[in-house]
Amino acid sequence: MAAKKKSKRNYDQAEAQPSRCKKCQSTQRTAYFGSPVIRVFDYVQKRPDGTDFTRLVKRRTKCRDCGQYRWDLSYEFDSKDLPLRPATKPGFIDSANS
Ligand SMILES: [Zn+2]
Repeated sequence: MAAKKKSKRNYDQAEAQPSRCKKCQSTQRTAYFGSPVIRVFDYVQKRPDGTDFTRLVKRRTKCRDCGQYRWDLSYEFDSKDLPLRPATKPGFIDSANS
């Protein structure tokens, strides 16, 4: 058996915000269950902070501390969703090509 090679991967760091219970502020939750509800947009959406997303995903979970059920909403970016249209600001109407 060959000796294990040392990983040469280069890791970026990205902040992952845990979802939080509105009732007790806990971030402890059960695993997601049931079917997620996914809304895929056909062009890039902008969050108020400027980050792009192409789909809104809602997943069911339950607070581990107080038992409250909730939907976790995540704004995700998947380049496979894009049909080649550029980023569009919410409310922006492209009348130049119509
Ligand atoms: Zn809670």
